[in-house]
Amino acid sequence: MSRSPSLERDPALNKLDEILGCFEKTAYRNYVANTIRASAPGRAGDSFQKNVDLFAEVIRSKETIGNLISRFRSGHGGGIVLAFIGVWQSVYHSFQPLAQGFTPVEIAYCVAHRRRKMSLQRQLALKEAFNETPADLLSKSKILPGPKQLDVTKRITDPFDVLGPLEAASVSCKSLNMYTLCSFAGVKIHWTTNLSRHLLLSKRDGKDILEIYSLPSMFKSSTPAMIGLGNMELALEVRLSYASLFNPYQPKHRGVLSRMLQRKKWCWCRHCMLARMRDVELKGLKHDRGHAEQLMLPTYDETIQTLMAAHAVDWEIGSYNYLWTRVEALEKFLRCSKPWGFRVLFRDNRNTAQYWTFV
Ligand SMILES: [Zn+2]
Repeated sequence: MSRSPSLERDPALNKLDEILGCFEKTAYRNYVANTIRASAPGRAGDSFQKNVDLFAEVIRSKETIGNLISRFRSGHGGGIVLAFIGVWQSVYHSFQPLAQGFTPVEIAYCVAHRRRKMSLQRQLALKEAFNETPADLLSKSKILPGPKQLDVTKRITDPFDVLGPLEAASVSCKSLNMYTLCSFAGVKIHWTTNLSRHLLLSKRDGKDILEIYSLPSMFKSSTPAMIGLGNMELALEVRLSYASLFNPYQPKHRGVLSRMLQRKKWCWCRHCMLARMRDVELKGLKHDRGHAEQLMLPTYDETIQTLMAAHAVDWEIGSYNYLWTRVEALEKFLRCSKPWGFRVLFRDNRNTAQYWTFV
């Protein structure tokens, strides 16, 4: 997808790069630019500069969100404050009001700071969440996954088995990845711009979907440091997870014909099958018409391809401390899933008794 030269020469975009601490033109910057254009007043080209100035004012401010909203309410509408904070922190949909007028981040904040003897509705009406600064609201609402503390002493039942609990908190990336999830559990991939949804398993149209963050170039900007993203550990884990999901296997081309003809398109080894799955996903992201029609700059993130091809590490609590709860949920879901068809049963040799009975 080509970039519009007139847009790239726009000094407002250069200023946006400076505000976001982006040293290269990333998909994250494009995504922020497009959202500013779409949500700020005066979308026409010549007012984009003003909108970028407003954005800078919001994200550089140390004021509480409530103060920012009341300051912006008269001129621009308080809603753009939430839109700007949401898009900057890459949790845009968590800052968009639901039917009752409350945003998901407010609800999460109230749940995390539940008051006794007060209904959730009443607590929400107090708007306590907006007494926080944008960075504080993100951490205190706990919408991003937090570190998992494994209490080894509690789990030990055998004094000679001190490594047991730690080994239990480990899953091979060869057994938990996009190939096994899609092939054996029928999971579909949903790419999301909401960082808080990364590696969450959810339902959509009755189907099980795994949400994967689609803008990892955000980690190249100054945003993670500004919003205190778990001392950057969460950022590191999200970056690592693409390879664990998409690149866990070494090539093991089977079949004399496949090897002779080097027919990777036909090869049934897991490495090649996953590579084809990866290509389909990347192609879909590049040609995401929904984004392209609505937005003006390309938001396909090339960083994904690089991260997918990196060295894969196993899912271990040491490497995936922040994402561990989600990894555990995925592993459990995969373990409990049953093969639903002849072809799946043939490929699925996780349960050896079932597999050899069938064969
Ligand atoms: Zn192969």
